[in-house]
Amino acid sequence: MKKNFFISLTLCSFLWITSGHAEENKILTETIKGAIKDLVEDNAAFANQKVEKDFKAFLDIQNPRVTMVLCSDSRVQTDNFSQGAENDIFVARNIGNQFVTTAGSIEYGVNVLKTPVLMIVGHSHCGAIKAAMGDVGSLPAGIRKEVETIDVKAAKDDKQGVIENVHYQVEKALNQFKDKVNAAQLAIVGAVYDFRNDYGYGYGQLIIVNLNGEKDPEKIKDSHYFDNIKKVSIGVN
Ligand SMILES: [Zn+2]
Repeated sequence: MKKNFFISLTLCSFLWITSGHAEENKILTETIKGAIKDLVEDNAAFANQKVEKDFKAFLDIQNPRVTMVLCSDSRVQTDNFSQGAENDIFVARNIGNQFVTTAGSIEYGVNVLKTPVLMIVGHSHCGAIKAAMGDVGSLPAGIRKEVETIDVKAAKDDKQGVIENVHYQVEKALNQFKDKVNAAQLAIVGAVYDFRNDYGYGYGQLIIVNLNGEKDPEKIKDSHYFDNIKKVSIGVN
């Protein structure tokens, strides 16, 4: 009797779990279908608004002005920094907006495409920074490898960690491109995109925190590179 009850209970649990999984899978399938459909249709709508001349300037060659290193975080997009990123921003992305894990792509932008600006952009609420400040050893191997190259041990919290990481990545970039920076052929800008207003300049602001290794906001402000900008957010507390 007890055995039958146990078997019935196990069977019920099994059916409940499998039907739960079946329902979950059904929802997931619909999500996948919806996402692919949206991507295909959004592209079709984009393509329908365009004609050949819209692409003519860059059919055979790209000539961006900026190489930008961004975190892969979906809340950070080139639209946040440009009203015409097409053929203007050469983008290298990874978790934690790191130099070393995408050095080849950055080198291509700076040395082959010869963009005069290299901008490394961190962002508020960065999961990679939080992960790097936590128990890295508990992460799956592939993710651990990607996070281990972030050095933010000195930061007191992740808000400061985001800034420290940008400084660290600028330092790495300077090691690689110091000759170009010294020859004024390249400006390396470190910045933070703040969609949470964590740093007090307002939601969605791009805050400059480093220019060619200089971290002092007053000295950055004095740079002739900022002469033509009416309003710019520089430095964080
Ligand atoms: Zn991030």
